[in-house]
Amino acid sequence: MTLEDFLPGLTRHASWQLRLYTDLHRQPELSGEEKKTAVRVEQELQDLGLETRRFGGTGVVAALENGEGPTVLGRADLDALPVMEATGLDYASETPGVMHACGHDAHVAGLMGAVRALHEQREHWRGTYIAVFQPAEELGSGAHAMVADGLTHAFPRPDACFAAHVLPGPPGQVLSAPGPVMSALDVIRVVVYGRGGHGSMPHLTVDPVVLAAAIVQRLQGIVAREIAPGTFAIVTVGSLHAGSTSNIISNSAELQVDVRSYDEDVQDRLRAAVERIVRAECAASGSPREPEFHYDVPCPVTVNDAGLTATVSAAFRDAFGQDAVPASRVTASEDFDAIPAAFDSPYCYWFVGSTPHELWEAATAGEFGADIPSNHSPAFAPAPEPTLERLSASHIAAALTLLRR
Ligand code: ZN
Ligand code: ZN
Repeated sequence: MTLEDFLPGLTRHASWQLRLYTDLHRQPELSGEEKKTAVRVEQELQDLGLETRRFGGTGVVAALENGEGPTVLGRADLDALPVMEATGLDYASETPGVMHACGHDAHVAGLMGAVRALHEQREHWRGTYIAVFQPAEELGSGAHAMVADGLTHAFPRPDACFAAHVLPGPPGQVLSAPGPVMSALDVIRVVVYGRGGHGSMPHLTVDPVVLAAAIVQRLQGIVAREIAPGTFAIVTVGSLHAGSTSNIISNSAELQVDVRSYDEDVQDRLRAAVERIVRAECAASGSPREPEFHYDVPCPVTVNDAGLTATVSAAFRDAFGQDAVPASRVTASEDFDAIPAAFDSPYCYWFVGSTPHELWEAATAGEFGADIPSNHSPAFAPAPEPTLERLSASHIAAALTLLRR
């Protein structure tokens, strides 16, 4: 009736789970292209006798129905990143330039472990458990795609939705907190126009490189001068492209601006400030055309429901003792919110520490060269033990707060 009932099952299937994880790690696929991954996920679920359905192309969902009771949804993401792996692991990526550098392979193996344990030990719980394997998290589009494809019409409304992410940290630590835990994100692609010409005749042109450089500098003033001290906000110009060679002044420049905060009002102010500054700099340069602003699919703030999270955090403390700790806010962003939002369900999103024990000890002791690679690093290598089992166990512990018999 508690997590304890499920732990022997998780331990018994540890080698199956490790193989699933290492297979996925060897065969990473980019966002929206998770074809083999989706087939493998379907195969694992069908091996348990579960019926699977597709949403949003490569999204896979299975429901475990176990009589009257509440409904819980657990979600893992499927996609890898355009990163050249440099971990040296014997199960490293076999596809050059593509890597599970964010740990989504661990999320899949972790959720699958929870599904298997819940499936095999139905006598310990009641209700419905919906397992969602979501594509294209890194683009912020996969959750929306599953919703647009009818996810919410195919399953009952969950009483709670859960998801977890591996992070650098003490291995097996489970970190949770109520309220905003991850930031809102807008990616704004800005195109500004000049008037091209010969590099030797700048007086006959409007140089978009000089214009773009002024924009990059001026945007730094938003967080420094327009947002209250102590309020979290980020404006990063992660990409700037213009021109092709030294003696040609180009016609246009393109900037990709990454804007984040923990508050939709702050996010509105950041977006407005970016547009205002870009327009003003274009005017200052004598730009011949209005700038263009293209917004990618935004990620909202990830806000954990206070009541649900209090219950889940207490269950984590019961289950994991000193390994269950309060989470600090993370500056990264997620599209998970789109799924519970579409169901109008409360949710809790937590983190699991995944740094190999010896590396964590060495780094926290300040040992030279003991750097801890973060998510998206070519060296990011979560320790399968205890991370995978902790992911499964935390999904089960969270689900049991509602599904306990
Ligand atoms: Zn990521
Ligand atoms: Zn991720």
